[in-house]
Amino acid sequence: METLKLIPKVDKVLNWPQVQHLLAGHPRELVLAAVRSVLDRLRSRARQGGLPAAALAEAAVAAEIVSELSLLAAPSLKRVINGTGIVIHTNLGRSVLPEAARAALEVAFSYSNLEFDLETSGRGSRYTHVEPLLCELTGAEAALVVNNNAAAVLLALGALASGREAIVSRGELVEIGGSFRIPDVMRLSGVTLTEVGTTNRTHAKDYRQAVTPETALLMKVHRSNFSVLGFTAEVEPEEMVALGAECNLPVLVDLGSGSLIDLGRFLPYREPSVQQYIEAGVDVVTFSGDKLLGGPQAGIIVGKKALVEPMKMHPLLRAVRMDKLTLATLEATLALYRDQRNALQEIPTLRMLTEPVAAIAERGTGLVRRLRRRLPPAVTLKMEDGVSQAGGGSLPLLELPTRLIRVTVDGLSEQEIERRLRNAAVPVLGRISKGGYLLDPRTLLDRDLDDLAAALATLAG
Ligand SMILES: *Cc1c(COP(=O)(O)O)cnc(C)c1O
Repeated sequence: METLKLIPKVDKVLNWPQVQHLLAGHPRELVLAAVRSVLDRLRSRARQGGLPAAALAEAAVAAEIVSELSLLAAPSLKRVINGTGIVIHTNLGRSVLPEAARAALEVAFSYSNLEFDLETSGRGSRYTHVEPLLCELTGAEAALVVNNNAAAVLLALGALASGREAIVSRGELVEIGGSFRIPDVMRLSGVTLTEVGTTNRTHAKDYRQAVTPETALLMKVHRSNFSVLGFTAEVEPEEMVALGAECNLPVLVDLGSGSLIDLGRFLPYREPSVQQYIEAGVDVVTFSGDKLLGGPQAGIIVGKKALVEPMKMHPLLRAVRMDKLTLATLEATLALYRDQRNALQEIPTLRMLTEPVAAIAERGTGLVRRLRRRLPPAVTLKMEDGVSQAGGGSLPLLELPTRLIRVTVDGLSEQEIERRLRNAAVPVLGRISKGGYLLDPRTLLDRDLDDLAAALATLAG
């Protein structure tokens, strides 16, 4: 109780020279909040009897206020180091943008021709900036971009089948996470869902028998984040298109994580590209900008002109329209796909997914060698075999062989290692494993090295 009385009052603290200095460079409210929070903390420590008199020295309290203020003033959204090996990590911002997108952002620091036609001096459309590129890359007649793929599905359903029925296989009524469920999205867009087939098997005849005069659409949804194995059957896109032609109905495919590259050529996985769906005759395809495409959060709609054009007039479009920052980074990402080799190198998501294990091993070993020199002896780094994942509801069964860095520290549990690295100046996220902590070099960026070394250095002592 004696120490409690020694804790200075807010007004007094505000007059200390160090705090006056802070007030010169920061909003008063923020400095005040930092002072109050530090004093509150001191009071509760004093009440618990754990406050030495030295902690109340002006210099000590002022130093705590300085660090509290820098916490309060720091942006909430910040860079982290992804050592999990999950390439499209939904909680860590999905795809890392290619360098080309950085230069493209420059346009947002000036006025731009976002909705201005420089040729006719008339009103332009924001959607014209990427449509030709998307048509060129996918072979589609028309394209439209929106805020994300959930919005793309909502808009496509609303435009193609509102007030009528759409037929979907029971095996494809997926929940993506974050409460995006296909049956709910259908209801929201005013479409009546007709479920056909069973969880594991759906045949063309199931769709055919379900067609009524009220049917407006045949829909196929990519399973994305799960797989059905064993006794299964699904209707392939070509068969679906033939059925659509027979019944005079358009076919919509929600691809989720669409890819503009046939990844089966680089990965042990069958995943047809968007072009292959268009080539098969699918009328409308929707996919994400920040999954396998490796760009910003976006929803991309490509397909037949007669079906995509009405979406450009749909009232919902305004509510889900894309911002110029996204448009700029999406255009820069898409442009890289004009040269497939370039795309595989320059787009981090593709580079990480296709990096051979030998290259990861070499990078990992180099990393360990350079880190070791800067680490205290209590911290040990060792390489071992493991697997990485695509993540983001893409390629769910794919296990990519990798080489992991096992971090062990004398006297620290793996949970404590995890906690300390997560609380580093640049937070590091990895995997907890029995008896240690693992970092996967697959998802580490070149620029992460210095901050990773600094974070690992905090593990000793
Ligand atoms: C991811 C996904 C969505 C949602 O896409 P977002 O870009 O995250 O909005 C919709 N459908 C499928 C099949 C998906 O995999």
